[in-house]
Amino acid sequence: MVILSLRFLAEVPILYYLLGIMLCAIFVNTGFYLHFESRPINNPVEDTSEALDPDEDTSKALSQGADASKSLIVSDDPSKLPDAPVSVNYFPSRECNYACGFCFHTATTSYVLPIAEAMRGLRLLKEAGMRKLNIAGGEPFLHPKLLTQLLRYCKEELGVESTSIVSNGSKIREKWMRDNCQWLDILAISCDSFNPETNINIGRGDDGKNTDRLFRIAEWCRTYGVKFKLNTVVNVYNWNEDMVDNIEKLAPFRWKVFQCLIVAGENDDETRKRDARKFLVSDAQWRTFCEWHKHLPCFVPEDNNCMASSYLHLDEYMCFLDKGEGMITQSQSILEVGVKAAMQEIVWDKKSFLERGGIYDWGRSDMKNVQQSACGSVNKSGSVQNMGKKGACDGVNRKDIDF
Ligand code: SF4
Repeated sequence: MVILSLRFLAEVPILYYLLGIMLCAIFVNTGFYLHFESRPINNPVEDTSEALDPDEDTSKALSQGADASKSLIVSDDPSKLPDAPVSVNYFPSRECNYACGFCFHTATTSYVLPIAEAMRGLRLLKEAGMRKLNIAGGEPFLHPKLLTQLLRYCKEELGVESTSIVSNGSKIREKWMRDNCQWLDILAISCDSFNPETNINIGRGDDGKNTDRLFRIAEWCRTYGVKFKLNTVVNVYNWNEDMVDNIEKLAPFRWKVFQCLIVAGENDDETRKRDARKFLVSDAQWRTFCEWHKHLPCFVPEDNNCMASSYLHLDEYMCFLDKGEGMITQSQSILEVGVKAAMQEIVWDKKSFLERGGIYDWGRSDMKNVQQSACGSVNKSGSVQNMGKKGACDGVNRKDIDF
């Protein structure tokens, strides 16, 4: 049989022989291909990668990673943590050269921390997530060298995003502005009236020159690239004053207007350093002042309800103060127990802080192409910056709750 087959093959022409080999090869390859094409695809990785775009792919990978990936998505930026002290009002000294009748941070002590301790406290705050530091008082410019050291340390060593000062304006000199402006983003000046007699009645100095100083300081701020801001306390002596013309001339980027406030333990009766009860305005008087001025783009009103527990106040010992409802309370010092533990001893309403726009464009006026303009801050296209939502706080326009 084998011999017969060999004889048959020997008689087949070579061309038929080659053709047979080619047909066999085509059949074998086609069968192999069809076999693998018809197999169900059961590789989940290939399937998922075809279905997702790059962003979805990333988020799905993170969620699929569950616990293992959690540590990767938690930010290492402390200011993003839920209870970070994002914006802090620090009162390094209670001393003041004025005697405003409604003052709610009175000179109950003359203590000032040694600078090394103050710096240590600022570092703790920064490590806990502080982004903005406001220095108030007392009158901060009674200690100009201390101010310089604090501001410089915040900017050069800690990299704090924004620094600001609230001052009564009586002790600021142009030389200080020139030498220190690089470490200062915002300068806020208290201004309750443009009438010398009213200022004297309130207790804001006795020379009647507050307005002259105010215009000089506003000019220095423009010269040295510091944002200029005004703070006004509406009280029994100024609730019916029309300030529109002067505010427009001064052109602050922000004008904070507070309703005169009683703080238990500070100014609530005749046993305290101040008794603010005789300076209080009725709600109707407060609304009258707001109605006259609310059309100004820089106008930021803050009634008594808005102030409660929305600020993080740090006193001269670096203890947090709770000036919300009831008697003022004081935490232990952050220098002794740390920032987190001290914050747990007071109430800070961060939700209200955020809802009121407590985080805003708080850099210097020469940053981000933003310039100061008449009672507002305008960019190159002329649109107003930092306008908050309407409605909060007595139905008037408010944008932030910073000092
Ligand atoms: S200037 Fe400020 S700190 Fe000084 S008394 Fe007046 S409100 Fe108080």
